[in-house]
Amino acid sequence: MSLGFVELHAHLMLMGPTLPAMEANTTWEDFAIRGARMAEMYLMQGFTTVRDAGGANGGLRRAIEAGQINGPRYFPSGAFIGTRGGHADFANFTAPPGSETNMGRLNIAQEVSGVDDVYKYARNNFRMGATQLKLMQSGGVVSAFDPWQLLAGSREEIEAAVQVANEYGSYVMAHSYLKEAILSALDAGVMSIEHGFSFDCEIAEVMNETGAYITTNLTAFDPGLLDIPTVADVPASLAKAKSASATFAGYIGNMKECPVKRGFQTDCVGSVEACNIQIAYEKRLNNEFLGAHTSMVTLTSTGGEAVALSGDFMNPHTAGKLGVIEEGAYADILLIDGNPLEDFSVVGTGDQWFGAEPRPESPETIRLIMKDGVIYKNTLE
Ligand SMILES: [Zn+2]
Repeated sequence: MSLGFVELHAHLMLMGPTLPAMEANTTWEDFAIRGARMAEMYLMQGFTTVRDAGGANGGLRRAIEAGQINGPRYFPSGAFIGTRGGHADFANFTAPPGSETNMGRLNIAQEVSGVDDVYKYARNNFRMGATQLKLMQSGGVVSAFDPWQLLAGSREEIEAAVQVANEYGSYVMAHSYLKEAILSALDAGVMSIEHGFSFDCEIAEVMNETGAYITTNLTAFDPGLLDIPTVADVPASLAKAKSASATFAGYIGNMKECPVKRGFQTDCVGSVEACNIQIAYEKRLNNEFLGAHTSMVTLTSTGGEAVALSGDFMNPHTAGKLGVIEEGAYADILLIDGNPLEDFSVVGTGDQWFGAEPRPESPETIRLIMKDGVIYKNTLE
C-alpha cells in the first residue's frame, strides 16, 4: 500500500512540439484537449495529486472536480509570470514589446515589466483559479531568447509576487537555476525552488531554515536530454543544454550530502504518450540517483506537504491531510503488487526515455488507484 503519488511540476496544457509552435499555431481547443488527456493519464499512472507549474488556470480543475473528466487533485499556477526575453516569453521573435500574444490571451504566460505588472498578473492568476504563483527567475533551455544563467526580474518584482501570494495565504514557486537566483528567491520568501540545479550545502542550510522545498527533474541529468525535439531541433537550446549539463554536475552529490525537502518533478512538454514515458523514466532516475526510500518519500508525503502551502483559502482540499495515511486524511491510496523498497520498478518505472515503447495506460503492478475514496482502477479480482 502506498499513498497516491504527487507530481509537483507538470504542465498539463503545454503539448509542444516547441514553444514557438504553441505561440503560432495552437488554439484553446488544442490546449484543453491535451490538458484533459494529461489529467487522466496522470491519475492512471498513480498520481492522485498534480501541481501545475505554469500555463493552466482553474477550468481544468473545475472539470475534474465536477466529475466531467477523470484526473488528479489539481493545483494550477495560472500564467507563468516572466520578464521580456525571459523563460516565459513565448512571443514570436519579431513581436514588439507589449504586443498581444496567443499565450497572453489565454493566460498561459504573461510578460511583466515592473512591480505594477507583477501585481496585475499575479492577482489575475488567483482570480482565474491559481492555487500558487510561478515566477520565471532564471533563463531556461527550451526557450528562445534567454541564457539559462539569466537573472530575470528585479528584487522588487520577486518581492511583489511573494506579497500577492501572501495576500492570498499562498506562496510562490520560482524557476531558479543559478545559486545567486536561488538564494535571492529564498531571501524574498519564495517557498518552492524549481529545478534549482546549482543546489549546494549552503543553499540547503537556508532552505532548512525557511522550510522551503525543491523539485528537480532528474531527466535534466540524463544524456538523453540532448535528443528531445524541443532541444535537439533548436540549435540555441541544444548549445544551452550542453553548457547547463556541465555546470550542474554536482547536484546529485550535494543532494545526498545535504538533503532537503525534495519533491517529484517531471516537467514534460510534449505529447501525452511521450510524457507517460518521461514520467516512468523520471521515477526510475529517482531510484537510481537517490535510492528507493528517498524516492518514495519524494513521490508521496513531501509532495502532499508542498501543495498544502497554498494555504487555507486557495487550497481546494483542506478537509483532510494529503500525503499521510491516518484517520481523517484524504483516502488517496494505491495498492502496489510488490515492495518498492526491494524492487522500485513496481511503482511503474521505465528503463528508457527516447526510443522507448509506448507505455500502458496504467502500470500492471499498480492494482488499485483510489482518490478521495473513489476507485479509478481495480484489478484485484
Ligand atoms: Zn516547468
